[in-house]
Amino acid sequence: MLILCTCSQKTNFCLLNAKSRQQSIFYSILLNRKKVLKGVIFLGLGFSIAEGPEIETIENNFDSLNAPKDHPSRDMSDTFYISDDLLLRTQTSPVQIRTMKSKELPIKVISPGRCFRFDSPDATHSPMFHQIEGLVVGKDITMAQLKGTLEMYVKELFGPETKTKFRPHNFPFTEPSVEIDVTCFKCEGAGCSMCKKEGWIEILGAGMVHPNVLRNCGIDPDEYSGFAFGMGVERLGMLKYEIEDIRLLFENDKRFLDQF
Ligand SMILES: [Zn+2]
Repeated sequence: MLILCTCSQKTNFCLLNAKSRQQSIFYSILLNRKKVLKGVIFLGLGFSIAEGPEIETIENNFDSLNAPKDHPSRDMSDTFYISDDLLLRTQTSPVQIRTMKSKELPIKVISPGRCFRFDSPDATHSPMFHQIEGLVVGKDITMAQLKGTLEMYVKELFGPETKTKFRPHNFPFTEPSVEIDVTCFKCEGAGCSMCKKEGWIEILGAGMVHPNVLRNCGIDPDEYSGFAFGMGVERLGMLKYEIEDIRLLFENDKRFLDQF
């Protein structure tokens, strides 16, 4: 099992514990040769790292995040339940809840980690995968700041010519919610097989933290606001390096790993 190391050295999380070739390859592929998380982007913008347990409460994983009681993600067929109160977290968002409930404002954190869903492995699904999420909460936090932060991020990651497109979406924990596309990094927007001739590739979900979520964490939404964003690490790496099957990342096949 691969472990996304988040060592306490907050300048670089990190290759320090990547002892095996597989782990270092994993970082290399999925973290875009260390750039994504190394800190040049988010840590350089003043974010700190927040971590949380992989075994979570249903309250932190669903309830506090404003997920409706009948939300499909709560279903037994989608989530690994451990007991009536506990589950394997389906997202890294409960780290945001823990941070908002325990830290003083303003908050500016990035939370990477493993997540689990009740999926049968196939080319695009794995029961274990990684996410990276970001959260900013304070006074006068606006959608413009969300856009500026993420535009800076994608330009750093995919190149200065990269354009972004924010499309309306619906998540229970943000309002308004957006999905963010970037110009295809293979054809630069002209249209190719990777972007299905659209010229754009979806890489992120984001939005302004829903007032109910702030309230659930004891934060007054009339006084404070925030934005949040999240992305799938494997998905990003698969897109960037045109890897067609997510299982290749976890099968420890040296012939595959040696390509990178
Ligand atoms: Zn393309």
